[in-house]
Amino acid sequence: MKKIVGVNLLDENIKEKLTTENIYKIFNNFIIPLISKDEQEFLEELEDFLLREVEPKIDLNEDVYMLFPLLGKGNYIQRLNKHNDSKRYGMRYEMLCAMAASIIDPELDLARVVSGVIFANPLFQFGKGDHISEILDNVMSGEKIGCICITEREHGSDAVNMQTTVEDKGDHLIINGEKVYTTNGSVADYFLTYGVSDIRDPRGSMYQFIVERDFEGVETKRLGIQSIPRVEISQTIFNSVKIPKENVLGARGQGYYNLFQGLVAERDSIIGSSLGISWLTAISALIYTNLRKQFGRPLFDFQGVSFPITKLFTELMATTEFGFRAASEYRKTLDYPDPKFIKYNAAFSSGTKYLASHLAQRLSYECQQLCGGIAFTDNLRIDKALEVSKVQEIIGGARNIQLYLVSRAVKNMISLL
Ligand SMILES: Cc1cc2nc3c(=O)[nH]c(=O)nc-3n(C[C@H](O)[C@H](O)[C@H](O)COP(=O)(O)OP(=O)(O)OC[C@H]3O[C@@H](n4cnc5c(N)ncnc54)[C@H](O)[C@@H]3O)c2cc1C
Repeated sequence: MKKIVGVNLLDENIKEKLTTENIYKIFNNFIIPLISKDEQEFLEELEDFLLREVEPKIDLNEDVYMLFPLLGKGNYIQRLNKHNDSKRYGMRYEMLCAMAASIIDPELDLARVVSGVIFANPLFQFGKGDHISEILDNVMSGEKIGCICITEREHGSDAVNMQTTVEDKGDHLIINGEKVYTTNGSVADYFLTYGVSDIRDPRGSMYQFIVERDFEGVETKRLGIQSIPRVEISQTIFNSVKIPKENVLGARGQGYYNLFQGLVAERDSIIGSSLGISWLTAISALIYTNLRKQFGRPLFDFQGVSFPITKLFTELMATTEFGFRAASEYRKTLDYPDPKFIKYNAAFSSGTKYLASHLAQRLSYECQQLCGGIAFTDNLRIDKALEVSKVQEIIGGARNIQLYLVSRAVKNMISLL
């Protein structure tokens, strides 16, 4: 990675106010009215941990993965599922985790969500046996890294019609295929993968299984994705890889059900990360424009600056309420798995993922322009947030696919007439 050592252009008085501690202070003021006492305690402990243990070790010239064991030490690789006796877990806790981690380092949080939630949640849901528990322990400690392999070169939005093939040999599978855009792929130890035994019947013949780095026939090559230089995205090739039975989470047909079960959790976690990016950017812009003077007055005194920022804060407050709502709905679908409710929740999570990830991108872009040149440098975290927000909008399904899922649910209402 080409090293960039940025010059500080910030006035010392502004610099001392733009600390993560101060950003958290303002963030908490907005968030605490929306959460329970337990959630508040969790958030404060988490922020304290991130400030003490993680922030001092962040190096923008190094991959994010060296920070994983630090997160693992605090049991913060994920908080969706119960692990290591934690009493505080569930989608609302995971969302708080994603927000606080994104504020400190948006690239770190992107890689964390993929390993801790998108890879690991299906293992918590469908995994059985000692080997799966061992994999989960390794990933939760941050010492090992997980990734998910759905997208293929010819099948992105149309993911179900995949070409990766599975030959079921009874006591093991043989898989062949190529996956692309695998976040964490080139450094991953475990690959949660989907393949089909009949490409004409993907729904009826889909399998879900874990490939391990040291299995013969696994090859990864890093893709040139410039917006997130500290996260590795790969092309992943499976060349006649033998998968033992204990690594199969979903056998023939069950893989399709498991794939769809995981998508809501995936979207909800991305909502948390997108909200974190938005709060980071909005609060940085609020602090900076209140202290930076032009024409003898703080920028925020000019309505051309303060009104657009205020409008973005209003949208962000509303979208954050929506995000917590989506997290609470996720819990309800686990407690009361009524098909009508599950369908509603799938559409609601898509709509909210669309809103939150699009807002993060728009808000970061607008705040960058409103703060001026400094927001293009590494003196502020706005440019980094903007780059990660672009990825948040496509990962977990592009913008149009989220709208497509909502439009299908809306269209179904016509059948009530
Ligand atoms: C940085 C990055 C990280 C990623 N990480 C992962 C990962 O870890 N694992 C993984 O499996 N995948 C990952 N992806 C893949 C991501 O989920 C896909 O890029 C996404 O699903 C879109 O697929 P595609 O890129 O092939 O675009 P396409 O499907 O070719 O779509 C191109 C455009 O057409 C639109 N479009 C497609 N079909 C329709 C339709 N029916 N109606 C309206 N519009 C439509 C799309 O919305 C999009 O705007 C990642 C992608 C990126 C860029």
